[in-house]
Amino acid sequence: MSSHEVTLFIDGKEIQANKDVTVLEAAEENGIYIPRLCWLKGLSPFGACRVCLVRANGRPQPACTQRVMDGMVVDNDTEELRGIRRNIIDMIFVEGNHFCMFCEKSGNCELQAMAYRHGITAPKYPFLFPQKAVDASHPDVLIDRNRCILCSRCVRASKEQDGKGVFGFTGRSIDKRLAVSSGEGLAGTTLDVDDEAVSACPVGCLMKKRVGYAIPVGERRYDQEPIGSDIESVAANKGGE
Ligand code: SF4
Ligand code: SF4
Repeated sequence: MSSHEVTLFIDGKEIQANKDVTVLEAAEENGIYIPRLCWLKGLSPFGACRVCLVRANGRPQPACTQRVMDGMVVDNDTEELRGIRRNIIDMIFVEGNHFCMFCEKSGNCELQAMAYRHGITAPKYPFLFPQKAVDASHPDVLIDRNRCILCSRCVRASKEQDGKGVFGFTGRSIDKRLAVSSGEGLAGTTLDVDDEAVSACPVGCLMKKRVGYAIPVGERRYDQEPIGSDIESVAANKGGE
């Protein structure tokens, strides 16, 4: 083990990691999936959704911002944490208008896939039925804010990867909304359909036009395999070596 490495334990499994990475990254490199929605590889961590909550040396911490430490003991896949995550996912669902059977993102949606992974098939809280503005002004990209989970992936991708700053937020608490950098709506911004910001959206809020149902429902990514199984297959493959 080099001086740049630390040893930690996740769900009882001993792993080595570079001392500069987060718990989420260390887990992923070792085939352990920690659920997440606002985290996306290549973007700065934001710590907003709290789906990646773990216990690090007994203290609740978001795994996406918590750095590894030598000797750290991390609980990830426990009944307590699965219950907290189920509650968070349940609340995200009812804050928006998530009617999957009518949504083009179905089967490719990380929120939907996260719900299935956690055994959620129906919301347990009453729907709030928001009525937020839809923006169809852009020739190639649609915004349905009623499906926005305020994860900031588009905001960060537009700034950090596209170098544009097309997206931001306005309002607070229950009134918080996705905003764009032009008073004329998305059409007035510099957004291009191929921007990383568009593909960064984990749900059916930022959607490309004219590609709907190009891949049939039933043949989409999370129709084929549960979310996180690509990460877990790394561990399975290592075990088979
Ligand atoms: S964005 Fe995802 S969770 Fe929401 S309706 Fe569409 S498929 Fe369902
Ligand atoms: S539009 Fe998509 S990526 Fe942007 S904040 Fe909303 S859910 Fe996240």
